Amino acid sequence: MLNKKSVDDINVKGKKVLVRCDFNVPLQDGKITDENRLVAALPTIKKLIADGGKIILCSHLGKPKGEPKPELSLAPVAVRLSELLGQPVKFAADKEVVGANAKAAVEAMQDGEVILLENTRYRAEETKNGEEFSKELASLADVFVNDAFGTAHRAHCSNVGVTKFIDTAVVGYLMQKEIDFLGNAVDNPERPFVAILGGAKVSSKISVINNLLDKVDTLIIGGGMAYTFMAAHGEEVGNSLLEEDYKQYALDMEKKAEEKGVKLLIPIDTVIADDFSNDANHKVVGRGEIPAGWEGLDIGPKTQELFANAIKDAKTVVWNGPMGCFEMPNFAAGTVAVAKAMADIDATTIIGGGDSAAAVNQLGFGDKMTHISTGGGASLEFLEGKELPGVAAANDK
Ligand code: AMP
Repeated sequence: MLNKKSVDDINVKGKKVLVRCDFNVPLQDGKITDENRLVAALPTIKKLIADGGKIILCSHLGKPKGEPKPELSLAPVAVRLSELLGQPVKFAADKEVVGANAKAAVEAMQDGEVILLENTRYRAEETKNGEEFSKELASLADVFVNDAFGTAHRAHCSNVGVTKFIDTAVVGYLMQKEIDFLGNAVDNPERPFVAILGGAKVSSKISVINNLLDKVDTLIIGGGMAYTFMAAHGEEVGNSLLEEDYKQYALDMEKKAEEKGVKLLIPIDTVIADDFSNDANHKVVGRGEIPAGWEGLDIGPKTQELFANAIKDAKTVVWNGPMGCFEMPNFAAGTVAVAKAMADIDATTIIGGGDSAAAVNQLGFGDKMTHISTGGGASLEFLEGKELPGVAAANDK
C-alpha cells in the first residue's frame, strides 16, 4: 500500500491547488487521437472541484525542447477537458508558462474553477529540474498534487522541484491507483505470479528481468528480446534482433531462474519473414531453425499455446512488451494470443503501459484487464524495483 498522503488527506477549500497531470496525449493536426490520459485524470480533478479548490492544471506535451512550439501547445487539451468535465477549463496561454498572463488568470480564479497552464516543457529548465522555474510554479499555489504517473520516473520542476517550495505535496487518485496495483502485484502478489516480458531489446529490460526473477513463479520472454536468449545457446537466429553483448547476461538470468526455482519460458517456435515488412514472405519454424536471411517477427503457434498454458492458472499476471511486431497484422497473432490468455482468466491482470497498453487497447482487450498502466517508462522502473522520484517527493502519511 502506498504510504503517501493523497487528495483524501487534505482540505483544499478556497486554496490554490497546482495539479501535475499527464496530458501527454497524441495529437494529429491539432486533434487528440487518444484521450485515455485525459479521462484517467478526471477523478482527481472532480474531487478537487467538489472540495472547492482553485484548480491549476499543468503538464508537459511532447518534446518542444525548451521552446514555445505552437504545435505542442496544450490549448486543444483545455478544450477537450472542458467537454469531459462539463465545465470550462480556461487555458492560460503563456509562452513563459508562468508569465504575466498565467499569473493574472490564477489571480482571477473563483473556488471550483479550473485553468490549464501551457506546456511545461516550453521552459528549458523543466527537464533539468531547475530551481527558478520550480519556484515560479510553486508561487502560483498553496498545495501541490502530483497525478502524473507517466513522468513519475523523472525528476523535473513540475513534479519534483516544485515540492521544495510548497509544504503540502500529495498524490492524486490516478497515481495512487497505479502504485497500489503495480506495488501490490510486485510485492504482495496472489500466486502463481506470472510476468510476461517482450518488446525489442534485452538491454532496456535488464533490471526488470533481474528484479522479477526474485518475485515471480514463471517468467515468460517473447518479442525481439528472446533471440538473444536463443543465440546465447549457440542457436542460429538469422537477421532477428540480437544483442551480442547481452548473451552472457541471458545465460546468467537462466541460471538465476534455475537457482530460484522460477520457470523461465522462451519461444519454442517462431514466425520468420524474409523482410521487415507486413508483405514479406513468412513461415513458422522451430527453435534453432531460423535460416540466414530470415528474421523472427512473432512467436509461433506452439509458443502461443505454451505461454497461454503458463498463464492459465495464474492469479497475478504482469505484462510489459509485445510478443512480436504487432503493428504489422501478419505478426500480431502472438501478442493477440497473450492478450486473450490474460483476458480469459480469473486473476489480477496488469498491463505495464507503453506498447503493450497500446496493443491491448488496439486489439480490443482493454476492458478485460484489471489495470492498464498509463506510464510505460514509469511502470518499467517500478518493475525494476526502483523508487520513483515523482512519488518519493510527496508527503509521507
Ligand atoms: P519495447 O519498446 O522494447 O517494448 O519494444 C516494442 C517494439 O518491439 C514494438 O514496436 C515491436 O514491434 C517491437 N518488436 C517486438 N518483437 C519484435 C521482433 N521479433 N523483431 C523486431 N521488433 C520487435
